[in-house]
Amino acid sequence: MSLTALARDAWTGALDLVFAPVCVGCKRLISTDDPERVVCRVCWARCRPVPAPRCPRCWGTLPTQVVRDRGAVVGVRGDDGDDGDDGDDDRLTDSVDSSDSAERENCVDRSAHGSSTADRPAAGGGSGGHPSADPPSSSAPRSSPPPAPKCRACAEWPAAVRVVRSAFVMGDGVRSLVHALKYRGWEAAAGPMAARMAALPWPRDVTDEADVAAAVPTTPVRLRERGYDQAALLARELAARTGRAFDPDCLARTRETASQTTLHPSERRANVAGAFAVPAARRRTVEGRHVMLVDDVWTTGATALSCAGALLDAGARVVSVATFARVFPELERPVPALRRGTGT
Ligand SMILES: [Zn+2]
Ligand SMILES: [Zn+2]
Repeated sequence: MSLTALARDAWTGALDLVFAPVCVGCKRLISTDDPERVVCRVCWARCRPVPAPRCPRCWGTLPTQVVRDRGAVVGVRGDDGDDGDDGDDDRLTDSVDSSDSAERENCVDRSAHGSSTADRPAAGGGSGGHPSADPPSSSAPRSSPPPAPKCRACAEWPAAVRVVRSAFVMGDGVRSLVHALKYRGWEAAAGPMAARMAALPWPRDVTDEADVAAAVPTTPVRLRERGYDQAALLARELAARTGRAFDPDCLARTRETASQTTLHPSERRANVAGAFAVPAARRRTVEGRHVMLVDDVWTTGATALSCAGALLDAGARVVSVATFARVFPELERPVPALRRGTGT
């Protein structure tokens, strides 16, 4: 090792003694060999990805289908990692409400419908991939399985809204990271958070059409209070990691809106309807482009969909949406407390 390298390592070590990196999530010291130095490995391990099966378009959770063979559970349809990102998932036309997915468990009896049906993806291939499309075997005196679980949540969306992806289910660990970025001034968290968003399973056309990224704009009041827009930070970092251009001003608020936090879903839609627009000077940024719209959290989608509508009105060809967290009330569960001494 050269003297220069030794001196550099000694200097870095000295800085770590004085300014030891602290995790934004748990406030514990981060191991100095952790390359990110912002969020510790334990906190990342506490973040829960959106579970399968999920709608390949809107990323909403779909009911689990237990596959049985002569009474024994031999698999769960939809959790094989195939999310149908093959380009034809926009044909999905109906669904179940994700809020009651835990109560709806459809059982597909393999012995009644042949083993081939259990090997297909549940939601990925649109309507063609579900076992209910297969006629029952004449030798099996069983009733037909329940109707296919598909996604009703995104059926009414504009066709040009391509896909939504979220890195993690909102929960205790994820919430601490979102709050660190949003309220506690941890701007450095945006890079590691956006890296997880960039690594999501995006359909190939979304990856290929890496045109431009836009951020859901915060309100002028919050921008003054915080000094930055957390969605813009994420959009900038995501754009840098995916080869997109980022224009922080291609979406603007046309009016003030009330806080969404206490509103019913229908009230949320009304609250943000027409609240966003692409400034005339920025129309050329989005015209004919596939825009990646970025926000920190997807709750009901009302705000993001209002922004998507504004982008499409301004001439965007396609809009996809990326968020760090997604709210699934039915999936939230307490995260086990950290044990002392594991925060490295
Ligand atoms: Zn941590
Ligand atoms: Zn959907």
